[in-house]
Amino acid sequence: MEVSFSREVRMLRRGNGELFEGEGILAITKALLQSGVAYVGGYQGAPVSHLMDVLVQAKDYLAELGVHVEACANEASAAAMLGASIHYPLRGAVTWKSIVGTNVAADALSNLASPGVTGGALIVVGEDYGEGASVVQERTLAFALKSSLLLLDPRPELAHMVRIVEHAFALSEAASTPAMLQLRIRACHVRGRFECRDNVAPPVSAKNAMEDPAAFDYTKVSHPPSTYRHEKLKTSERLPAARRYIADHALNEVFAGRRDDVGIIVLGGLYNSLVRALAQFGLADAFGASALPILVLNVVYPLVPDEIRTFCAGKRAVLVVEEGQPEFVEQEIITIADRGGVDTRIEGKGPLPMAGEYTVEAIARGVADFLDRHAPGLALDDGRAWLASLDARRAEIAKKLEQPLPPRPPQFCIGCPERPVFAAMKLAQQDIGPVHVAADIGCHSFATFEPFSQGHSILGYGMSLASRAGVSPAMKRRVMAIMGDGGFWHNGLLTGVQSALFNGGDAVLVIMKNGYTSATGTQDIISTPDDDAKDDASDKGASLVHTNVLIERTLAGIGVKWLRKVDSYRVGEMRDALEDAFTSDYAGLKVIIAEGECQLERERRVKPWRAKQLAAGKRTMRVKYGVDEDTCSGDHSCIRLSGCPTLSLKDSGDPLKVDPVATVLDGCVGCGLCGENAHAASLCPSFYRGEVIQNPNWRDRLAALRKGETTGGRCPRARQA
Ligand code: SF4
Ligand code: SF4
Repeated sequence: MEVSFSREVRMLRRGNGELFEGEGILAITKALLQSGVAYVGGYQGAPVSHLMDVLVQAKDYLAELGVHVEACANEASAAAMLGASIHYPLRGAVTWKSIVGTNVAADALSNLASPGVTGGALIVVGEDYGEGASVVQERTLAFALKSSLLLLDPRPELAHMVRIVEHAFALSEAASTPAMLQLRIRACHVRGRFECRDNVAPPVSAKNAMEDPAAFDYTKVSHPPSTYRHEKLKTSERLPAARRYIADHALNEVFAGRRDDVGIIVLGGLYNSLVRALAQFGLADAFGASALPILVLNVVYPLVPDEIRTFCAGKRAVLVVEEGQPEFVEQEIITIADRGGVDTRIEGKGPLPMAGEYTVEAIARGVADFLDRHAPGLALDDGRAWLASLDARRAEIAKKLEQPLPPRPPQFCIGCPERPVFAAMKLAQQDIGPVHVAADIGCHSFATFEPFSQGHSILGYGMSLASRAGVSPAMKRRVMAIMGDGGFWHNGLLTGVQSALFNGGDAVLVIMKNGYTSATGTQDIISTPDDDAKDDASDKGASLVHTNVLIERTLAGIGVKWLRKVDSYRVGEMRDALEDAFTSDYAGLKVIIAEGECQLERERRVKPWRAKQLAAGKRTMRVKYGVDEDTCSGDHSCIRLSGCPTLSLKDSGDPLKVDPVATVLDGCVGCGLCGENAHAASLCPSFYRGEVIQNPNWRDRLAALRKGETTGGRCPRARQA
């Protein structure tokens, strides 16, 4: 991983009274160390990737404290790591992206929740729900409910989030139950500051190891008959203990308002949006002083019935602001109020939408509807005018547009090595016919968008090959599965490859070997080339040669007989390999490894090297592609085959050419795909390859002079692609 978090790592060392400034997720990282964790693990994924990234880079400092850090193979291995807290007084934390990561971790989570824990165990989940989400729209709450895990959802303010993390460990110990802390995207990225406390070295740790294991205790094993007792303990002891701790330490907050006839109960993570919505109506100021009383649930499960009843009692109506469905919290609040004889009208879904992110606007519309009916005297004119202005602006834009704007989905990066594979796939299908493509999670899922539109389904990370098992037998043509190297190690090797080999699956698997788990922030994996190989490649300014052949050896070792390795950028070779795989007489699993380093990571390595070369007055050469607009016919077949954002359109300026011509914008990194596509697809010969030479030597100058070019430090040697 090349992104440097050295500033954040330095901030982790801050002690009593010093200020910590930054993003919410980094505050959580510091809070873990202030809580005395002995071990930390996780699997990266937005919006919590930085937690692991920073801790992995802070390994030296953590070793000083005695904190063990483990970059886990997947979320299941991270959840299983918390098993250390079952017997031992070790505080531990793990992290992943939810809901997808929680799905992967579910088995270990159930078996952890059953016996419970001795040392505090905290799972920090990036709750990726809402308009910016990159995963299925589900909530972690359902998992917490079914396994009786504590679920914290702190109000997004840094000092408060740190306080809640510290309490989370004590709460977990008081209730002998693992806790989850859910952080929405906005909470992870909210910025602020807090006053630090000293980090706490764990009393038992790698620096101060235990002599003996715990005495054998069958009651802590997640296996019948212990599990029968565990279930009883959850309801008779653990959850009541949790409720006592939550109430005694005032983990939930009440912000008294000026009115007492209506109120709002909000999940902590939505508090900032609620206050912003109230401010539109003049019912709150920017600092949260609200006209309406608000109960903030920093702990969403379990609820404390007394707190709910006390807040609701005497009010005409209470609005519950809970994002997503089903409305578990709202239903429980209604039940608590009803069983406690509180006759307050409780609403949530209805005024507020059943599904989707609760933006400030969505909350404001719900609040307006609720207050109209239950506090008719309130002046809501300012907020209504604001909502009307939003409606008017949308209507005005719709009127101006003759047709809706085309969607602008995310794209492969410029020069991504995965783009050429899908260009080759388009060409191959022209020869062999359309094939069913089982897609996967990772950058390659961008191929489901235009201009590739490939990928019939996505069933989970590393699940593509497994997900075609039912399709293959029902399809005359072979089925193709796409998987990244990250997905291969996360899950694909066992659920896909092993299963296909065992069952004699006849399919084509393409593994994108780009060297990292790129989509989550280019973290290293077990097949990432080692530092020496990276340094060597960087020193030469070269593309990273993939010296690590663990995937190839693993596939061969497990019994894959048909295995090809193709440079991702060689479109013609890739097309040929794909056609071979689809037409081969061999009826087993056929694997093509598409090898090409993640361009994002390569640029991070090569840019500093190039700057050093230039500063030292050394010759550097960069490749750029261009389109000769005189030759370009304007049919845009190159764009339909490439999808590179730097391959664009411009007016030809030629009155005889009606259509705009293709053009290559400045961002071109010279990946070579334009040239490859032109050859492999026999496109018009309008592409040229240019070499931009800085600090040219005498040969370059001579060559340029011969061609009649200027050599003002740059040598635009161009040749047909
Ligand atoms: S991060 Fe790397 S693999 Fe992902 S789209 Fe960008 S270049 Fe391609
Ligand atoms: S060569 Fe073509 S595909 Fe590659 S970066 Fe340049 S414009 Fe994009």
